[in-house]
Amino acid sequence: MKLRNCKTVVKALRTGASVLAVASFLLPQMGLSNTVLWILLGAAILLLAAGAMIQYTYWRCPHCKKLLPKLADTERCPECNHPIMED
Ligand SMILES: [Zn+2]
Repeated sequence: MKLRNCKTVVKALRTGASVLAVASFLLPQMGLSNTVLWILLGAAILLLAAGAMIQYTYWRCPHCKKLLPKLADTERCPECNHPIMED
């Protein structure tokens, strides 16, 4: 997975998790059962975990394979100073 795709996928998963978390608190107030709350919260946690796993696996310097800092807009690897978005 390319770094740009990794960043997009992780951000999408985080956004999805946020939406599900907010929905899990709003929907029960609209009369749905607490079971729905737990299902939505569980799905949100799964999305966050998937995002963290993808970030840990693919958000790495293409040259030295070290983890890059968060999803920052950095142009060079802080370890080896190799340009990271050169594809
Ligand atoms: Zn590097």
